[in-house]
Amino acid sequence: MPSGKTHTKINLIGLPVIIAPLALLHPLHYEAIFVYAAGFLIGTYLLTPDLDTESDCYNNWGLFRFLWYPYQKFIPHRSILSHGLLIGDIIRILYLSIILFPLASFVNKQYGETTLLVWLEEHRDVLFVLILGVITASTFHIVLDKFYKPKRRKKR
Ligand SMILES: [Zn+2]
Repeated sequence: MPSGKTHTKINLIGLPVIIAPLALLHPLHYEAIFVYAAGFLIGTYLLTPDLDTESDCYNNWGLFRFLWYPYQKFIPHRSILSHGLLIGDIIRILYLSIILFPLASFVNKQYGETTLLVWLEEHRDVLFVLILGVITASTFHIVLDKFYKPKRRKKR
């Protein structure tokens, strides 16, 4: 099983490999490419499938690690619920949305001019591209978990 650092390294190598052709094929869509890259980095550092265990990603949440305690209690490590293509992302994003909803609603009531749902509706294209970046990053993770075999040192 690759380490968290290996996952991060492979993702950071993979990002420009994906971004470069997108930028060449769609040079005028740099904003979407930027949002996609941001989603990919969020998926690499904050929303990886390994949130189901005490991983580098989990530690990246710092003081807010506690948000993932219930997730770790209910999602078995490396199960389809965390390491399944798409299903893992959907569960993590839904989980985070549910956990953060009370705070987001409070902030929205205090400072927002439009409701949260209206804002989400207005920005759904951006959110879609952002989530696509997150999904791509976790797909890299899942594929690497499946096929990566660490090199073993030869015994002398
Ligand atoms: Zn993993």
